[in-house]
Amino acid sequence: FCLLQNQQVLGESICFSSNNMGKGKIFIDGVEGGTDSMGNTYYSRDEMWKNELDRADPTSEKGWYGKGIKYWEDVPASVDGVLGGFGHVTDVDLEESELFYQTLLREGHLKLTEPGRAADCGAGIGRISKGFLCNHFKAVDLVEPVAHFLQTAEKELSGFNDGNYIQIGLQDWVPQQGLYDVIWIQWVIGHLTDEDFVAFMMRCKRGLKEDGVIVLKENACTEGFIVDKEDSSVTRSAVYLEGLCKAAGLSVVAQ
Ligand code: SAH
Repeated sequence: FCLLQNQQVLGESICFSSNNMGKGKIFIDGVEGGTDSMGNTYYSRDEMWKNELDRADPTSEKGWYGKGIKYWEDVPASVDGVLGGFGHVTDVDLEESELFYQTLLREGHLKLTEPGRAADCGAGIGRISKGFLCNHFKAVDLVEPVAHFLQTAEKELSGFNDGNYIQIGLQDWVPQQGLYDVIWIQWVIGHLTDEDFVAFMMRCKRGLKEDGVIVLKENACTEGFIVDKEDSSVTRSAVYLEGLCKAAGLSVVAQ
């Protein structure tokens, strides 16, 4: 997974609850240009997305989503594989997530209702579900488009998860309305285009129970964005990430 020089190795967790904004073209203050892994420079988000999306149908093998899936299909179904060689960070990552989760409960941002249900978005081999979410929720739905990862996840979790294994990209997934206490999105949102990011977050908002939350844990670059041409993902700055979440009508309640 893309961990570039000027990124933090461990993602920041941000937790959102809903407000009522977000329609039409996505405007974000404070995001200028960016770069890509080939050394190209872009003056704006629009220029970068035009360059990425105009060439081929996004779902085709050479398109934005097709290339992303192809990349992950060739990656071994292991912790080190899904973490791009950074398998050693998994314990500290899960510990940090546990602490953040406890803070959400303690500060009243999240109120659980029985039976608890979570979604693990871009779940990979179920690393987060196995090491964290399944300790707290009776059922965790794993959403993951790459077949060999999802099959591994199902084997790993068999016997201690009542949830579903859903083979689909987040750009196409429609969570059932009012179903989730927690929708956990970690180290995956960079695969979504800006428009799909916002539309996905809006669907997630509808998928929450009344006192549910969305948690986004992601690497951020210091400014603008960095496109990874190899796995078809974009690392966004914190301002950029927050701008998209705001456009989806979400506000930050804990960080
Ligand atoms: N969140 C997991 C996996 C991180 S690796 C963890 O932290 O362990 C990134 C994952 O995103 C891979 O499993 C990859 O197959 C998945 N992915 C790539 N494109 C995606 C998309 N469009 N929608 C959902 N998941 C995607």
